Amino acid sequence: MMRFTLPRDMYYGKGALEHLKTLKGKKAIVVLGGGSMKRFGFVDKVLAYLKEAGIETQLFEGVEPDPSVETVMKGAQAMRDFEPDWIIAMGGGSPIDAAKAMWVFYEYPDTSFEAILQPFSFPELRQKAKFLAIPSTSGTATEVTAFSVITDYAKGIKYPLADFNITPDVAIVDPDLAETMPPTLTAHTGMDALTHAIEAYVSTLNSPFTDPLALKAISMVFEYLPDSYNGCMASREQMHYAQCLAGQAFSNALLGIVHSMAHKTGAAFSTGHIPHGCANAIYLPYVIQYNAKDQTAKERYAAIARSVGITGSDSECVAKLCKKIDEYNVKLNIPKTLQEFGIVEAEFKEKVAKIAELAVGDACTGSNPRAITPAEMEKLLTCTYYGTAVEF
Ligand code: FE
Repeated sequence: MMRFTLPRDMYYGKGALEHLKTLKGKKAIVVLGGGSMKRFGFVDKVLAYLKEAGIETQLFEGVEPDPSVETVMKGAQAMRDFEPDWIIAMGGGSPIDAAKAMWVFYEYPDTSFEAILQPFSFPELRQKAKFLAIPSTSGTATEVTAFSVITDYAKGIKYPLADFNITPDVAIVDPDLAETMPPTLTAHTGMDALTHAIEAYVSTLNSPFTDPLALKAISMVFEYLPDSYNGCMASREQMHYAQCLAGQAFSNALLGIVHSMAHKTGAAFSTGHIPHGCANAIYLPYVIQYNAKDQTAKERYAAIARSVGITGSDSECVAKLCKKIDEYNVKLNIPKTLQEFGIVEAEFKEKVAKIAELAVGDACTGSNPRAITPAEMEKLLTCTYYGTAVEF
């Protein structure tokens, strides 16, 4: 038996934030990130709308990028003190991910991260509150997914939480918020969305329920991302919807090794963090070459290619799809290799074996369409460093 779960309601379109005026409830805690939502006036709007709905509010501000266990516990305590019946998370992926984890510890103060690490093992939520998410970036789609990533800085590990219990009840996908994204963030998050859709489409858990969402998201990203990057707000709006469709697909079909590699290389090098979407964009064409050695995966990549107007045999379609992604990366000023990104060769060589082992063990590897060993992963990562073709 399979399961397909999405938020109960998704409000979208310019000004969709106004839905908050009609929200039914008593108390809402509003979870926020670093302050951009406040600066752009969106927090004031949210508070005014909730007041109109007769809902008492409290802010929980300052969730950091890559939110920590400490922030989650602080937020959960604030929720236990305030006792909201709505948790409203607004901003990029971080405040929304953090609020999802706070929700678990608000409702179950005696549980622990260790206890909820096993995917799809969460206790039953919605005993105290429902969850509403409002994304301001167009990539992670955490407003519709069953996932949250929390970092334990003391132990140096990331907890990838996964359970349909933390799929939000309501998502408000209002493109006005996405207009605040700077160009580089637009490029990186947009390529993250493309990767979500492509990995979901070829995932071993793909299904007739997720395929149409993935294909539509892919065609929309190809159509709108370059103009969105160049400041066209009508395209920015379409990208905000495309990433949400991609999220609906991958929340149910899961991902693949592009994400495994991005997760384990993101913070691995002393030359600085590789932004998640940028890492995905670099790895995607190489992983397609690797996965396409599997016949079923090859056919599915060819189907993606044909859905965006590419013609030819399956092999030609796969090659042209990779070329198209390369061209988009050039348009978006994303490097082609880790070397070009600025990773030092000696450090790469020293660390690649360990990174390969960790990437194979990542939660996203299980649904990749072609199996991979640590030795093969090391070869694949090496191809992404030098820009060599994947011929194994
Ligand atoms: Fe991602």
